Amino acid sequence: MQTQPDSTPHSWKVLKFGGSSLATPERWDRIGRILSHNLAEGARPLVVLSAVGGTTDDLERLLEGPAGDRDGILARIRERHVTLADALGVERREAIHRQLEDLADLAQRDPGEGEVAAARHRARILSQGELLSTRLAEAWMQARDFPVRWFDARTVLTALPVPDATEAGRYLSAECDYSHSPAMRRSFDEVPENVLLTQGFLAGDADGETYLLGRGGSDTAASYLAAILNAEDVEIWTDVPGLFTANPRTVPEARLIRRLGYDEAETLASMGAAALHPRSLRPVREAGIPMRIGWTDHPELQGTWIVSEDPETHVPGVKAISSRRGLFLLSTRRDAEWQPVGFMADVAECFRRHHLPMDLLSSSPSDIRATIDFAANPDAEDRLPDLLEDL
Ligand code: ASP
Ligand code: MG
Repeated sequence: MQTQPDSTPHSWKVLKFGGSSLATPERWDRIGRILSHNLAEGARPLVVLSAVGGTTDDLERLLEGPAGDRDGILARIRERHVTLADALGVERREAIHRQLEDLADLAQRDPGEGEVAAARHRARILSQGELLSTRLAEAWMQARDFPVRWFDARTVLTALPVPDATEAGRYLSAECDYSHSPAMRRSFDEVPENVLLTQGFLAGDADGETYLLGRGGSDTAASYLAAILNAEDVEIWTDVPGLFTANPRTVPEARLIRRLGYDEAETLASMGAAALHPRSLRPVREAGIPMRIGWTDHPELQGTWIVSEDPETHVPGVKAISSRRGLFLLSTRRDAEWQPVGFMADVAECFRRHHLPMDLLSSSPSDIRATIDFAANPDAEDRLPDLLEDL
């Protein structure tokens, strides 16, 4: 076991692995190498995991499908984790089985009446994917002699009241306090095991309730934790080499971007670059913590570094082109007047009244088009009819 004496100032690295990085035993092997490399360099890794690929989608199906399908979906989730445990040579499975039982129990439960109760139940169910993956990873790390301490992310990341969100929406897309906490840092420094392991995507509150950071929210969890700890950097390990000048699946000439600023990365991520969740950039930008996107299959490659850009040396120009799909487009037209005053304000006010964020916007003197991203705002679709009526 590799341990460090208490007097050494530890440098924390937050290493986040996405669902695809957990999908095959070969990739777990790479994760092992990345961990060993960091430990050999004297860093203390805080490992943040998503659910094993496909699990969160299955959990959503569990909530949406007829009760008759539940057993099949639960069996598939169990099978996925047990097969991985077999392939990884994990023998101590008590914690994994306990988690699977908790999930089966929860799936039976009546969510209760109303929108808020439904959202709370949804958050509890969807959180099971990350709880399962980290229980599996804990057993795997122990089998591989990594000194590991598992912790529940809900005890560290606290969901805040979000001014414009509905109460139900907050359960599914919470925001957290991410100011640097010297006390938290000290308590992490004092953990004797060199590797810390926790879930992405989850937050909690003083009552022990479960909140989610929105689909794809594990990147944001990693970034929050890095800011709270004042980590040296945060590494987002994924299934692509980094951010590109265009989507390489459709534009073969696209080039890897080696280095870019936080703002540029945030724009790219919110405009369609799927490798990174846009909400993950603000905490690291404010704390000045570098973020790296790395390819789990090839950890030796440099990937993309997102860092503070020096305005003196920054070269302006188009860095990348991106596109998004699956957005709801709403188009409004006012025929009576040319260049009406307050048209945009009126439309925006309707969106506000119905708690619907306007996403991409375009306008001409007589019409306004706005998109709504249902994936990022899970309860928005229900409020759409009222918005249309109001408009
Ligand atoms: N497992 C969650 C999702 O699929 C969170 C994440 O992967 O970032 O959305
Ligand atoms: Mg992701």
